[in-house]
This record gives sequence, C-alpha cells and structure tokens, in this order.
Amino acid sequence: MPSLWKGDTTNIEQILDTIILSKHFILIFCNYHKDTFGVRQGFAPATFELEAKKSISDLSDDELKGKKVLVRCDVNVPLDGKKITDDTRIRSSIPTIEYLKSKGAIVTVCSHLGRPKDGPEDKFSLGPCAERMSELLDQTVTLAPDCIGEEVAKIVGDAKEGDVIMLENTRFYKEETKNEPEFVEKLAAPFDLFVNDAFGTAHRAHASTEGVTKFLSPAVSGFLLAKELEYLDGAVSNGATPMAAIVGGSKVSSKITVLDALLDKCDKIIIGGGMVFTFLKAKGLNVGTSLVEDDFVETAKEVMAKAEKLGKEILLPSDIVVADSFSPDAETQIVAADAIPDGWMGLDNGPDTTKEQKEALSDCKTVIMNGPMGVFEFEKFNKGTFGIVDILADLTKENGAITIIGGGDSVAACEQSGRAGEMSHISTGGGASLEL
Ligand code: AMP
Repeated sequence: MPSLWKGDTTNIEQILDTIILSKHFILIFCNYHKDTFGVRQGFAPATFELEAKKSISDLSDDELKGKKVLVRCDVNVPLDGKKITDDTRIRSSIPTIEYLKSKGAIVTVCSHLGRPKDGPEDKFSLGPCAERMSELLDQTVTLAPDCIGEEVAKIVGDAKEGDVIMLENTRFYKEETKNEPEFVEKLAAPFDLFVNDAFGTAHRAHASTEGVTKFLSPAVSGFLLAKELEYLDGAVSNGATPMAAIVGGSKVSSKITVLDALLDKCDKIIIGGGMVFTFLKAKGLNVGTSLVEDDFVETAKEVMAKAEKLGKEILLPSDIVVADSFSPDAETQIVAADAIPDGWMGLDNGPDTTKEQKEALSDCKTVIMNGPMGVFEFEKFNKGTFGIVDILADLTKENGAITIIGGGDSVAACEQSGRAGEMSHISTGGGASLEL
C-alpha cells in the first residue's frame, strides 16, 4: 500500500488507484463489521456479512449499470437556519456518488439531519443539503418529499442513469433509529443495491445503515468508509508492538469508526481534542462549555467498557487548558481534567498530559495519529498537538518507531511544527479531510 500519498484527491481515478483492498484491510473491516453488526444483531446471515465487507470498487460494471442504488451518506451538516455553515460532510460524499454515476447507476442518497423529535420538521429538512450537493455535482439533485412511500418510488422509478435523488431526512420516522423491519422494508423497496458511506453513523444499527442490508444485496461500503480505514492497513496488521493510537480532532462522531477498529488492534489509545469532553462527560465529570456530543456519551461509555474488557489502556488528559471563549486571545488557565470550572471550555491538553503521553508512548514501536490534541490553529492552544508531534518525531528518530500520521489536520499540524519530514508515513487519506 502507498505510504505517502501526495496525490490530488479531486481526481476520482486517483482515488480509485489508492483504494487497495488488501487482504489485511478486509480483515480489519471484517472485524469492524463483526463487532458492530454481526455479533450485536446475531441474526445477520453469513452470506450478507461477506458482502457487507466489500467496497463499491469490487462491483462489476454490470452490477452498477442502470441499477437503482441507495447510498447512505452522512450529510448531517451544521446549519444556521437554512444556511450550511460547514459543508465538509457533503463534499466528502461526492467521490462515491460521482463513481456510481460514472458507472451508469441511478443514485439515491439518504441521510439523517439533526435530531427531529416527532415527525417532519422543516428546520431539519435536507433541502439545503440537496441544493449544496447540486452545486458540487453540477447537476440537479432532486429532493424527494419523503424517504418512503409511493412518491419516492415514482421519483426513483422515473429517474435516468446518472440522475441523483436525495430522500428527505430518515429521522423524520422514529422507526429509523429503532431499525423497525416494516420501515426498513419500505425504505429499501425502490432499490436494487445498497452502499454505506455514512462515516459518522456507520457503527449504528439504524434502518438506513444496517436494516436495509437485510433487504438489498449487494450491500457494500462506499469510498469514504473504506478510505478512512485503508491507510491503517499495513501498520496495524503487521506493525511491531506495543502499538499505540492517538485519536484527536473535534468529535467522537467523526472518529468512532477509526476508534473502534484501533481498539481491537492497539495496546494503548490516547484520546485528545474536542472528543475528550464527551468521554469526560461519560465519566460523570463537569466539562463546562467544552464541545460535547450528547448523543455520543453512550458511545464513549461503550468504547471505555470495550477497552476495559480487552485490557487495553485508554489515556485521557489529566490536565486541560481551558478558555473563557473560543477565540485566539481568550483568557486561559490550566486545570485538572476533573475540575473544569463552569463557563470555561477545554481547548488543549495541559503540560502534565503531554508528559504522561510521552511516558506512555516511550516503549511503543508503532504509533498511529489521527486528529489534533487541541485547537492548534490558535497559538494559545497548539502546545498539546505540537507536543505530541515532537514526541512522535523523537520516537521515530531515537527509537526507530514507526509513526503514521493520518487526517488533514494532523498532517497540517506536523507541517506547521516543521517535523512532518521526520515521521515514517504521512497519509492524507482521512475521510474527514478529503479535499474535493
Ligand atoms: P477533525 O476534523 O474531527 O479531525 O477535527 C479537527 C479540528 O478539531 C481542528 O480544527 C481543531 O481545531 C478542532 N479541535 C481540537 N480540539 C478541540 C477542542 N477541544 N474543542 C473544539 N475543537 C477542537
């Protein structure tokens, strides 16, 4: 597998070239699916499981041409009213859609958006997402008024090869998260096959992520899902131990797939960045105004429970740099992780944490880093990230450890700190950082 990707990911052919589904990768992906779908669901037939591990690049042209493909994307973007404030998730979903179109498929995207409480709510309509996707694809993306029913069936039935349709928010039905078979059957009805490219929600057994795979075959993963795990291939399958993973960045939701896969493979997991606070909250601690994903508190608990069961170490920061606002010149103080004051937000690791990380990593032979330790874009909050970058560069130089950096922000942090060249491998393949 290529260890240093310098390619421009705007080009679909290049993306395809870099997706090498080696035996090892399939193994990692198998484990991931076994844990998330197979074991928990129990009833998933073995033949389905095999199919679910395939990527769309494994499908022949005949399997795609003229076929009605349901693609589960994660276009759950932040909105200010009807205005999308960050379209990364929509942009990240484009390569899979472009590929399917290029093969003559009829593409229908489904996704959730926000947390509608009881039925349809205009503020959670996927209208703005369909509009943005139209701009990115340079063609009309038809928004269906629902995600199930006759009207949807007619729109999909009338569509031509290369057309793109977006279904309305799947969470307008409570049956979506409950994965209710009757709803699942209706959702799957108009389609021939299923592609899961919902990076942030792929681990959840909802109707549109897991349920439909029981009705649609083949059911395969899209590029975004495959790509995020691909660069870990050689390292985690063949890497020398002890092996550690450093997982940072803003959110648990966007890193859960990586976390889940790494937990199986690594001896130690260091957690940093914004996701720390969802974990601290899961431990019952006060997190002030820090970034927290309330709907991932349970996930954080599951990750910690799994680590305990597997006897793996999860290292959370012991001290935190907190700020009175999210700004480059905010007032700051360093506090213990279990003493974050009300009204303050955690934006970086404290110095003790960096020391503990150095100690924890000192015997590691392979270290994978995905995501920064804090808001390194602001000088006041870059020490945790640059500190760990220094630790990794030193480990590579002095101990001959293999260090692998994945994800655009971590790569940027290494470059900014001037130590990118000292790492063993730099991968720009992180799905969340896919540049389109
Ligand atoms: P991701 O795209 O998930 O890898 O997240 C990268 C982003 O996470 C960077 O832009 C960081 O500024 C941001 N980030 C890191 N730590 C925090 C934090 N404690 N609170 C908010 N954002 C953070």
